[in-house]
Amino acid sequence: MSSSSPLSYSSYHTYAECPLRWKFLYVDKLPETPRGYFTFGRVVHSVLEELVRPLLVPGARRLAAGEMQRTLDDWHDGGLPPPTVPPMSREELLAAYDRAWLSDGYSSPEEEARYRALGRDLLVRYYTRFVKYPPRPVAVEEHLEARWDGIPIHGYIDRIDRTESGGLEIVDYKTSRELSGEDARASDQLSIYQVLVEANYSEPVEGLTLYHLRSLTPHRAPPRPKETLAQLHERMGSAVDGIRAEAFEPTPGRQCSRCDFQARCPEFRAVPGEDEARLRGLVDRFDELRRQEAQLGDELRRTADDLHRAAEQFGVHRISGSGAVAIRRREETWRYPTATVDEILESAGMKALAPHASTEEVRRLLRDPAIDANVRRRLAEVGTRRVKWYWDLESS
Ligand code: SF4
Repeated sequence: MSSSSPLSYSSYHTYAECPLRWKFLYVDKLPETPRGYFTFGRVVHSVLEELVRPLLVPGARRLAAGEMQRTLDDWHDGGLPPPTVPPMSREELLAAYDRAWLSDGYSSPEEEARYRALGRDLLVRYYTRFVKYPPRPVAVEEHLEARWDGIPIHGYIDRIDRTESGGLEIVDYKTSRELSGEDARASDQLSIYQVLVEANYSEPVEGLTLYHLRSLTPHRAPPRPKETLAQLHERMGSAVDGIRAEAFEPTPGRQCSRCDFQARCPEFRAVPGEDEARLRGLVDRFDELRRQEAQLGDELRRTADDLHRAAEQFGVHRISGSGAVAIRRREETWRYPTATVDEILESAGMKALAPHASTEEVRRLLRDPAIDANVRRRLAEVGTRRVKWYWDLESS
């Protein structure tokens, strides 16, 4: 991949995690060790494609002016033969699964057998749901490309469905163990797919779905607002700039444990024998101190709480120990709702005195005898006070 090649979600994500790993994969084109769960995902995706493709009714693509678009209406009008639902029997589906099966990357025959059984179970359950509620796909496993404000992007989309209201819903299958609604709301992958579909189809994107195959749960999210897409565009733009500038710094993190390139990575370079033990000792000590720090922090909070309860019980703010005295101090903070403060000041023609309606500005006005007493009273009424207690130690 060159610096001008289109960026896919996975390429962007790899660069964002570790630019050096991106270089190993996309510039040096080093192969990765096959992994069973990736092979499994690919096989299940291909069988689902085979199952769903016969239902396909092309959606309205953005075509050159004057060109005809084939839409769902063409299908209803008899322009295309109606699909048979289901397009294949359960047995045919399982036969397709057997044909598609690949053994690459599994750590043992037992692991492969477990995954194979999981796939059968998952496909049979999906099939029951599919027969009852057949989707209305306008695209299956479709490769789309776009130029997103200067950034060339591309992606393969598992499925694009037509919604009841005539819009489009993007569906991405996931074979992972866990998946949540939050994953769908935060997924950069779905955001990129939204941009690709909006650039290539005439109908609006109305929904983004991560379909969790293990639980047959569609996690739906609304289309991303402009601001979310702008933030992603910014991040992808930085990745493109980095790639162009050949900035391939190693960035160690959680991903290192599943990176195949540790042997080439400077971060995993062997330390000379005489320094190895010293560095190991330093890290071990740091780790131990961090644990102690966390433990001490917990104990410190519990002890302060006990002291607060004692102070409340005896109505004091000073408690003597053997070598020190604990003094309870208070810290007071005020909050004023900006919109309400703006309203009060604007109605009194005083907005210029507190242009940001910040707490500091309001507190200054409240202390200023030159300000109308009625305005000050109204401002004081909308404030909320927060009191925080803390303990100081003094020598006794
Ligand atoms: S081992 Fe970690 S730091 Fe090195 S290339 Fe792989 S992901 Fe990057």
